[in-house]
Amino acid sequence: MSQPALQPGDTIGILGSGQLGRMIAMAAARLGLKTHIYCPDPGPAFDVCATFTLAAYEDEKALAAFADSVGVVSYEFENVPAPTAGFLAARRPVRPGARALAITQDRWDEKTFLNGLGIPTAPFARVDNVASLEAALETLGRPAVLKTRRFGYDGKGQAIIRAGDDAASAFRSLGEQPCVLEGFVSFAREISVVGARGVDGSFAAFDVCENEHEHHILSRTIVPAQVSETTAAAAIETTGKIAAALDYVGVITVEMFLVEENGSDRIVINEIAPRVHNSGHWTIDGAATSQFEQHVRAICGWPLGSPRRHGRIEMGNLIGAQADAWPELLREPGVALHLYGKHEARAGRKMGHWTRVLPEG
Ligand code: AMP
Repeated sequence: MSQPALQPGDTIGILGSGQLGRMIAMAAARLGLKTHIYCPDPGPAFDVCATFTLAAYEDEKALAAFADSVGVVSYEFENVPAPTAGFLAARRPVRPGARALAITQDRWDEKTFLNGLGIPTAPFARVDNVASLEAALETLGRPAVLKTRRFGYDGKGQAIIRAGDDAASAFRSLGEQPCVLEGFVSFAREISVVGARGVDGSFAAFDVCENEHEHHILSRTIVPAQVSETTAAAAIETTGKIAAALDYVGVITVEMFLVEENGSDRIVINEIAPRVHNSGHWTIDGAATSQFEQHVRAICGWPLGSPRRHGRIEMGNLIGAQADAWPELLREPGVALHLYGKHEARAGRKMGHWTRVLPEG
């Protein structure tokens, strides 16, 4: 659907009220755009938008009013129900589009799509019951990682099956839902590429991020990743190829494992996030254009900005009680502190992040 670009003063619609929606809304405001957030639960994005709608994703009356009030619809999380996206897409452009959403919502579809493009993933097998899990374990060996096909994030919806573990109880622990079993990847590093594709097919990517996780949640990102130029170029090229194949508009993130083999690195794709990403938060303080502004530019049909980095980057997440360190972080020269305005610091909850931009070298 070819649509005229949005104008300053227009409104963008975002599904989801978390910190990603909040930071998209703040970037939009800087460019003179308004944001309308739609979510069944109140969240930190409600504090910074021009309008919000608190309604269910199945509420067609509320969805129709939301669509009428915006020039384009986007989302801050990949689990937007397909009927909701379809209902909105009949009224306004939804960016990224329905195909990107459908493929990235299902780990089986996503890996099949990637392998179809000749892009490597961990070896995987489809699991629908205990018998297919036992068969998959025979083929892929142990340890292996069992993941629900849908609705997994931050390590939720997954279980490692090691030698001696009971396969049936692992399947039960995930609610006996359709799953994929992945062969265990002995990676040297985890990296991600945050890129963006414009309405005109232009593509720009930030420098490759290197990510450390604690309890499956991102804890720290450094940029540039400690990888060779060849590997960095290959990681970015792969991301561009995926975005083009999805006819993608907006920011896309590709999480990758790096496996060291005979002195060189092999890239294995872990997953695609059809959205702005935690590993790209450093771009607010450390790049010419932030990932949030880049996303706004892309979905509005505007030219992409420069992803140029301002220095060597360290970004740390403030998870749960770690956010209590905010007074010390405020006192530290050169630290950019971001707090998401969440009231309750539950364990595992992302409360904020900090970024340091250091001189190169
Ligand atoms: P995910 O939710 O798929 O991003 O997985 C969360 C984390 O679990 C990843 O960042 C890895 O640290 C680890 N992990 C996931 N899949 C695998 C795998 N096949 N092999 C080894 N580690 C994995």
